Amino acid sequence: MKAHDGMYIDGTWRPAAGSGVIEVVNPADEEVIATVPAGTVEDVDAAVRAARAALPAWAATPPAERAARLAALRDVLLARREEIAETVTAELGSPLKLSQTVHAGVPVAVAGSYAELAATYAFEERVGNSTVLHEPVGVVGAITPWNYPLHQIVAKTAPALAAGCTLVVKPAEDTPLVARLFADAVHEAGIPAGVFNLVTGLGPVAGQALAEHPDVDLVSFTGSTAVGRRIGAIATGMVKRVALELGGKSANVILPSADLSRAVNVGVANVMSNSGQTCSAWTRMLVHRDRYEEAVELAAAAAGKYGDRIGPVVNARQRDRVRGYIEKGTAEGARIVAGGPDAPREKGYWVRPTVFADVTPEMTVAQEEIFGPVLSVLRYDDEDDALRIANGTVYGLAGAVWAGDEAEAVAFARRMDTGQVDINGGRFNPLAPFGGYKQSGVGRELGAHGLTEYLQTKSLQF
Ligand code: NAP
Ligand code: MG
Repeated sequence: MKAHDGMYIDGTWRPAAGSGVIEVVNPADEEVIATVPAGTVEDVDAAVRAARAALPAWAATPPAERAARLAALRDVLLARREEIAETVTAELGSPLKLSQTVHAGVPVAVAGSYAELAATYAFEERVGNSTVLHEPVGVVGAITPWNYPLHQIVAKTAPALAAGCTLVVKPAEDTPLVARLFADAVHEAGIPAGVFNLVTGLGPVAGQALAEHPDVDLVSFTGSTAVGRRIGAIATGMVKRVALELGGKSANVILPSADLSRAVNVGVANVMSNSGQTCSAWTRMLVHRDRYEEAVELAAAAAGKYGDRIGPVVNARQRDRVRGYIEKGTAEGARIVAGGPDAPREKGYWVRPTVFADVTPEMTVAQEEIFGPVLSVLRYDDEDDALRIANGTVYGLAGAVWAGDEAEAVAFARRMDTGQVDINGGRFNPLAPFGGYKQSGVGRELGAHGLTEYLQTKSLQF
């Protein structure tokens, strides 16, 4: 058990203002592995002041130099990837292989993409008799969740730094250790003091203080819709910029001409990965009624193979919440064909990979984000019916379409109300804009679109 102290503020680890601590628990066995300080309003204020003081110099740093610092950051993340993977596994519970490839691997790619973008982006353009300057928004307050703990920090930090913004990050209370490791990486990469600051703490205390701070120009939040709504209201009331990455209930639409076995197997893997704790997971599988029973059998077999290889969910509250949803699915008439609500182990926050058949669109398990290893398989009559079901939730973050012919899948994808669609199993692209339609959020992350979130324009007329 390691008792960490200090907040990373103004380029050093300095003592926290208060004496409160947060216990970090390994979800696999419920052991307390570390403690970190619980930040207060004073810590947040100190961090925001440091970010404000560092802003003019960082904003004036030539983009090529900001790019060089981001490239150095990418290199440190790459060099420390084993330590990063082990840390995420310890505090999130994800299997080590997933931690290595995704939790440690994706941030390297994203940091690298912003090193490149900072060097090549047109921060100045000519429009008629005007020169338009793309300037940094200012001080950013970033509030991040635990499900992809380093990715979500890097997906905000890297574009903010590329744009010339400075920032304060408040990571999730469940996963502060990889956030601390990231602060060390930022330091090692030679990013100037005050440009990046980290305050660990509780959402309603440190998170709220950051969102409400008058010297924060943009709040970027990823997490639950409930908290996102509050943060949106605070930011709008104070006329701050706000970016929200919220939940999802994405549809995996398997058209009749698709390779059913492949679509179902990839679909199940997509949901079970990271124990279902993925906002963009395809948690609703839509299958034509003629192939429905076959798909359900394939999905049950695929889920049955996972056992506890997927890892636990993050904490006791999430476990109870997910199991509550599984019970609710049964109560509303859905049929469990794999898994179920019972605990597979005595210790740790484990949930069995679960598949529901006979799910109808209005059921709770077809409407609400469960954030656990639970797949709902729904039946559709024809393409229009499939589209109605696919678009029939308050969310619109991601999705998938499978068809024998790519053009057929694309035609369907064009009609979906959602921010991303994978065609016949298309791969994750760290340069493609990521973000939601409808209540899945406001704004976009990643790539050039993610960079523009951190920029504001100034037009000079000649
Ligand atoms: P959450 O409470 O929304 O947590 C996200 C971040 O917001 C954390 O850093 C959290 O701090 C902070 N926060 C909480 N209350 C706050 C407040 N009043 N003001 C400012 N910041 C605040 O999410 P959660 O409770 O961990 O998870 C609940 C559900 O949210 C999940 O079951 C899932 O449905 C959804 N979720 C979605 C995503 C996504 O990627 N879209 C990610 C995670 C969760 P603490 O860590 O201290 O709570
Ligand atoms: Mg919370």
